[in-house]
Amino acid sequence: MFFHRKAFTLVELLITILVLAILMVVALPLYLAAEYDKALGDCHANMTILAKEESRFATANKGLLTKDLQLLKSNPKCPGGGKYECELDKGGNGWVHCSVKAHDYDGKGVEVKP
Ligand SMILES: [Zn+2]
Repeated sequence: MFFHRKAFTLVELLITILVLAILMVVALPLYLAAEYDKALGDCHANMTILAKEESRFATANKGLLTKDLQLLKSNPKCPGGGKYECELDKGGNGWVHCSVKAHDYDGKGVEVKP
């Protein structure tokens, strides 16, 4: 006579939940770190594009930079929800920043090179 099982036992269910919990504990931080690194790279690429467009804008406008980055051709969005801005340093050099300070790798942003 065969023994028919109609459901999982409590121990089987608990072991399955435990294995899934261990996988989550190991995988979730790695996933979140990878997502953060991707957002950081995308934001830096956007700032580099904006710095190049600022440089072209300055060339076409007697060396003047614009604070209104909406005037530039592309209008990239920060993947972290930050806003881009252009500021001048004490030496008169332009820098494109993200309002999410962690996205400015060295706290300076990306320089607008003439
Ligand atoms: Zn950003």
